[in-house]
Amino acid sequence: MHRRRVVCAAALLIVLPLIAAAQTPPVDISFTVAMPRPPTHLLEVDIAIKRAAVGPQEERLVMPVWTPGSYMVREFARHVQDFAATDAATHALKWEKTNKNTWRIVTNGAREWHARYRVYANELSVRTSELNSSHAFWNNANILLYLEGFLKSPSTVRVVAPDVWKVATGLPAVLGQKNTFRAENFDVLYDSPFEVSNFKTLIFNVKGVAHRIVIDGEGNYDPERMRRDVQKIVETQVELMGGEVPYHDYTFILHLRANAGGGLEHLNSTALGYPRFGFRIERGDRATSAAPNTTDTPQRDYRGFLALVSHEFFHLWNVKRIRPDALGPFDYTQENYTKNLWVAEGITDYYADLVLRRAGLISESEFLNATARSIQSLQNTPGRLVQSVEESSFDAWIKYYRQDENSVNSQISYYDKGAILGLLLDLKIRRRSNGAKSLDDVMRYLYAEFFKKDRNYTPQDFQKACELMAGSSLEDFFNRFVRAKEELDYNVAFEAAGLRLETNGPPSGTAAADRIFFGADLAQEEDRLMVTRVYAGSPAYEQGLNAGDQILALDNLRVTKDFFNARLAEKNPADLVNLTIFRSDDLSTLLIKLGARRDGTYRLVPLPNPTPAQKQVYRTWLGVT
Ligand SMILES: [Zn+2]
Repeated sequence: MHRRRVVCAAALLIVLPLIAAAQTPPVDISFTVAMPRPPTHLLEVDIAIKRAAVGPQEERLVMPVWTPGSYMVREFARHVQDFAATDAATHALKWEKTNKNTWRIVTNGAREWHARYRVYANELSVRTSELNSSHAFWNNANILLYLEGFLKSPSTVRVVAPDVWKVATGLPAVLGQKNTFRAENFDVLYDSPFEVSNFKTLIFNVKGVAHRIVIDGEGNYDPERMRRDVQKIVETQVELMGGEVPYHDYTFILHLRANAGGGLEHLNSTALGYPRFGFRIERGDRATSAAPNTTDTPQRDYRGFLALVSHEFFHLWNVKRIRPDALGPFDYTQENYTKNLWVAEGITDYYADLVLRRAGLISESEFLNATARSIQSLQNTPGRLVQSVEESSFDAWIKYYRQDENSVNSQISYYDKGAILGLLLDLKIRRRSNGAKSLDDVMRYLYAEFFKKDRNYTPQDFQKACELMAGSSLEDFFNRFVRAKEELDYNVAFEAAGLRLETNGPPSGTAAADRIFFGADLAQEEDRLMVTRVYAGSPAYEQGLNAGDQILALDNLRVTKDFFNARLAEKNPADLVNLTIFRSDDLSTLLIKLGARRDGTYRLVPLPNPTPAQKQVYRTWLGVT
């Protein structure tokens, strides 16, 4: 808050009542979160509201419908039960629900009153909450109601946990009060998840600032290596963003489970999930195959973990501080729309890998091969010609977060295409500025001009920042590739770094070139072979195969997925295959004429005889010394 300095006694008399009248009377809001019976999955919440003066006749408590960083309405109020309200003397107060997530309490001017309720918490993900006999993890937006009209108020959270459990959160502790933490406002409160368990802790310092990795669950990780490599990621990103560490401390909360995954960014913490046996260290490049007929399951190895850490950590700048228009302060009662998620998520994803390269945690060829794979994956997605990256950002709430079998044909991921656009912009700025500027300068500029000046940026602001660094207009680029959905022009960009994208397979006429094109993803579900996706424009799509079909036989022989793929690999383009299918419970046959695959495995290869300028761009871009 900005206070005017008062210079004389006469002014003081006049100004003071005005200030007092303009301010909402302060309210003391304190939460207690208890977990007396962990196996029931019920977190018990007490909210104490206290005022120095008489309060209003009635007040409203509201549960957020979403949690920032995860752009879907999740209706957290559905897990609330046993709601009750009392005055300070524990006399019951009347209350009623006025909509799905709002409770109206008749407080009759009470200076102090309480609401108590329980929240069922039995879903472990980075955006939900879980309490069981081994730990508690929660996002405050899942479990803590806010007092309507008081989102800017500070509050405290006291955790009452089993003695053997410790408490980790990004919120600062209140000195002298056990397991009690303070949030300066509700945006900060809802941005600070809690882990309460007998977790392991790894610590390190960067520029004198404490960082800790809090690990719940066993796994095949090497603690010393993890500590060292996460520290390298932090150091590389701090340097990239100008050397300032914009928080007092930072907490990585890491859950290791058989099938854990994902991450959610916060102001000075992050929640991460990773497969407990996903820390295997692979030597050399991953197999480079991104065939359009197969679901490419990303390998879970140690590099995947480092990329997750790098992505979530970069968010502390890009989205948490460099904030898109609609993303903060937040409206917790409905969707918050922005066209900028491709910047907030896609460019974060671009930097996640680039930082690993610059930190020396992956090789140049690993970075370039991963880039080629993601370009191939984009080019194999028919939806790239249907939805722009701005439309994808805006509709995240109903499309990206609610995908179905048609999504591949109607949508584009603002992560995947946003990362590629970040790369193309980076190389374009480096080329136009003769290597003097880069996307790094754009990020530092946005940090200085928007975060430091407490402003959010619009799509136009982002374009202007890129143009400022490029030294000329990028209207054509943004018109064609950001606001519209034209095919991206890769080789114009890669030439700046002395590279070329090769998309062709072996020369035509060779056996390897005559590969067939079918165009559907299949999944073996126990003894049934199911069609999960059919790519628009493919032979399977054009000749009538549907997602949801069960394939019983290929050329009258019973199939499994392995059998199907093996028989298909023996075919030639223009061969006919006879499929016996169940569509719902109707048996029928489909005759499909196979097509030919034009593309091979994409690769980024060096241009012959690169110029000194191209070599220089390549070295500074990838941090090659
Ligand atoms: Zn992200």
